[in-house]
Amino acid sequence: MQTPMVPIVSPSLAAILAMPPGISAESLNSLGAWFRARGEPEFRARQVLDGVWRTGAADASAISTLPAATRLALAAAFRWDTVTDSERTISDGGRTEKVLHRLGDGTAIESVLMNYPGGPDRRERNTLCISSQAGCAVGCPFCATGELGFGRDLQTAEILDQVRTAARRLAAHGRRLTNIVFMGMGEPLLNLDRVLESVEALNDPARFGLGARHITISTSGVVPGIRRLTALGPQFTLAISLHAARDPLRDVLVPLNRRWPVAEVASAARDHATATGRRISYEVTMIAGVNDTDADADALVDLLRGTLAHVNLIPMNAVAHTPWSASSMRVIERFADRLRVGGLPVTIRRNRGQEVGAACGQLAAERAGAPPAPAVARRRERLVAASAAALRGERSRESAPFGMDA
Ligand code: SAH
Ligand code: SF4
Repeated sequence: MQTPMVPIVSPSLAAILAMPPGISAESLNSLGAWFRARGEPEFRARQVLDGVWRTGAADASAISTLPAATRLALAAAFRWDTVTDSERTISDGGRTEKVLHRLGDGTAIESVLMNYPGGPDRRERNTLCISSQAGCAVGCPFCATGELGFGRDLQTAEILDQVRTAARRLAAHGRRLTNIVFMGMGEPLLNLDRVLESVEALNDPARFGLGARHITISTSGVVPGIRRLTALGPQFTLAISLHAARDPLRDVLVPLNRRWPVAEVASAARDHATATGRRISYEVTMIAGVNDTDADADALVDLLRGTLAHVNLIPMNAVAHTPWSASSMRVIERFADRLRVGGLPVTIRRNRGQEVGAACGQLAAERAGAPPAPAVARRRERLVAASAAALRGERSRESAPFGMDA
């Protein structure tokens, strides 16, 4: 049983579904149909979408090209913004900005905006990391969102409004969003319909108009979801959160591995790369003494050599309630060298916004209140035992995921 905490994640979608839909999920066609049904000209749909996506209109009343009665009808039929920025924290000398958003039912989610300055041969990048679910059911024990458990799927407009609010903030400084990554709270492939609708809106020239190559979807390895994406033949980047290439260890780090083990994930990812001709990004969160050994590097090489792959090594962000910490830079560099010698392209990624807890979900987890100390101690003990067994090659008999038992 989960320890009762201050409820930060609403248990039900009912409250949201009773509200008017968010305007961001509307396309030229659907809004055109709305106008047609009202006996108004369809071209007004484009005027509305310009206000929503381009001119940053504060609400329907600000679209001065529309008749007053139409503005009132729009305001009654749609919510202009489905997320509010309730808390903002800035770090990395102003280059990382983390926002805790509240949704219409009070649920908390997070997004993180990261600025990468340009150089002589490089353009400035502004990357937004967005959430697809409130909480997450997968329960990776090094992840603050996993510890929160599952709240609910986000609606399409709730995903897109994280983008709109960030784009508005950037536009105020003459900047624009260049990249969007689904690496915030939640498992995107377990809310795939809404995520695909969002990607379509982000791509759509009449709406956000961002090229698919500037969008990355990250998954912990939901194999049917990967296969569904492959069938669509998309141009966006697929990132697989691998963390370990050996099943006993991956069972502990990514509990979904018991359902779709390493070989199945790797085979779906390989098929995706072959079908799309695009490199897969494999993410490895580096945890000291757990998944950073030479044997782990060699297992990764065996799994990925000869495939269209790029490995990103990310030092684990410190999160509360785990017994683990980040591998040292010396160990990460040694690990990276071993992968390179094995023929894999590797990047070591620097953590952003550590001081504000920028591993997504961390701020929301902190706001959810601290679980009782004995429950934390028991969880740590179970994780230490499970990872030690995994390092001996034993598959864990633990019931997944590693919740905070009372
Ligand atoms: N659920 C999806 C996408 C969101 S998580 C997934 O797991 O891929 C985005 C990335 O952040 C994942 O690669 C995840 O493993 C990583 N992550 C989670 N907690 C982290 C932490 N404490 N330190 C570093 N990376 C972390
Ligand atoms: Fe969910 Fe991803 Fe966190 Fe795992 S790492 S618990 S899949 S959000």
